[in-house]
Amino acid sequence: MKLAAFDMDGTLLDGRLVFALSERMGLDGRVRAIQSDEKLASHEKTAMIAGLFAGVTRRDVESAVESIPLSKNAEQAVSALKGRDYKTGIISDSYTAAAGVVASRLGMDFVAANDLVFENSVATGRVNMPMGWEKIGCFCHLSVCKRYHLEKYADMFGVQLVDTLAVGDTRADICMIRRAGFGVAFMPKDDDVRNASENVVATPDMMQVIRLLDAAP
Ligand SMILES: [Zn+2]
Repeated sequence: MKLAAFDMDGTLLDGRLVFALSERMGLDGRVRAIQSDEKLASHEKTAMIAGLFAGVTRRDVESAVESIPLSKNAEQAVSALKGRDYKTGIISDSYTAAAGVVASRLGMDFVAANDLVFENSVATGRVNMPMGWEKIGCFCHLSVCKRYHLEKYADMFGVQLVDTLAVGDTRADICMIRRAGFGVAFMPKDDDVRNASENVVATPDMMQVIRLLDAAP
């Protein structure tokens, strides 16, 4: 048994849920203003953006994520991993309501993400952030520490860390990419992500991850 953890936005999806959703809701200007505010910590931004989404329905979130195409060969890559005895899942700083849709489309085994709180299927503006960095002393300080969740799911499925694969594209993925037995920087968005691993995929094709994995010693 092995384990593969994927980031969602920009990795499994050729797009980002928060942009697709905020454009649909006419909130894109306000969301981008929060995201570009360098005075705010990452988890503060997550809480503020969730506040903007108060009143959005679960169906709005689901249809926003359904409007974003999967990245090229995402389905083929996930099935190739299943054929190699991998448990597969998503570790995302997006929302469980969206990541669950993608995970079920791909037949994946686990999802970790921020949990937008709904009442009667309407977002309340609150979000439960799983964090985890405070438990393991991770440098990331993010709303979802991907390293913590990689370790948690590996432990849950009885997989050694050396037998884990982690794939991501942004700085939020660095702690997981570095920790995994096989970390992959997929279409890395900056040099820090590119330098987080010797395994870099620079063409937008998820099967390149499988080719790297198969070529590894
Ligand atoms: Zn972390």
